[in-house]
Amino acid sequence: MQGLFFDGTLKLRHDLPVPERTSGDALIKVLMTGICQTDIEITKGYMGFRGILGHEFVGLVQESDNPELRGRRVVGEINCGCGVCSRCLKGMSNHCTQRTVLGIAGKAGAFAEYLTLPDKNLHLVPDTVSNEEAVFVEPLAACFRILEQVTVHRDHTAAVLGDGRIGLLCAQVLKTIPCRVSLIGKHPEKLSLAEGMGILTRMVNAAAGSLFDLVVDCTGSPSGLPLALELVKPRGTIVIKSTTASHQPIDINPVVINEICVLGSRCGPFAPAVRALQEKTVSVAPLISGIFPFSNALEAFRTASQKGTIKVLVTIDF
Ligand SMILES: [Zn+2]
Ligand SMILES: [Zn+2]
Repeated sequence: MQGLFFDGTLKLRHDLPVPERTSGDALIKVLMTGICQTDIEITKGYMGFRGILGHEFVGLVQESDNPELRGRRVVGEINCGCGVCSRCLKGMSNHCTQRTVLGIAGKAGAFAEYLTLPDKNLHLVPDTVSNEEAVFVEPLAACFRILEQVTVHRDHTAAVLGDGRIGLLCAQVLKTIPCRVSLIGKHPEKLSLAEGMGILTRMVNAAAGSLFDLVVDCTGSPSGLPLALELVKPRGTIVIKSTTASHQPIDINPVVINEICVLGSRCGPFAPAVRALQEKTVSVAPLISGIFPFSNALEAFRTASQKGTIKVLVTIDF
């Protein structure tokens, strides 16, 4: 089958084996895949992954033991736990030490004709949600993870740092509470996109002096956490959504002095993300910078790496 393969360099290949489905798994024909910052980081060596990239997808179930899944359009949770360790048994399969992760660790990903995932990872896509929207379920679910971790009240003020893909999604998710959310970024055109969604915005150099109950760092930059520490109220909460390659030292004394709760946050629940797209409480179409055919997937990656690009999608059209 065809697929976008990374082995030190990124290349289109036509000689890849269709992944083998085992019992409990579904074989899925991929329809569309999104390029995530993680994919771009992998091409720079992150995770040491070699194989087919891609973890944000929508597809059609081709084969499954579950007749209710066969022929249906689905999105899929990307972590595959071993199912038998103490963490998996406690419902923490996202933290299973033996886990594979679609297109990120030990498992062929979604820039290909077919992928496999366990049936239990799959979620049906309602007919009113397009393929272009469904591709956003995985990153959107990661934003809904915040609401599982932090109790956000209507009278809370929240700041989302970073006006990239995840920042624009997180701000919209917090707005569904609804709480008073401000998106703080560096790019006027992205901030005006957020304003069009009814979100308060501010340029980062104008943010000093304001304090928020909740600050979510989506900057993907080592400068995010120090800024979050400046902007959070005493006894407030910081949620860190970004991983960075940098290992710069950070002064965490303010965490102690101001009694700040600092939380890391990764993958999240798919059901509220699918619902938000169905109910149109979150809009993702304005975040699409381009849609490329699979034959132009390499160009899609180049576009996704450029400044100013928000989200690039690839149709798996064969
Ligand atoms: Zn991703
Ligand atoms: Zn496990």
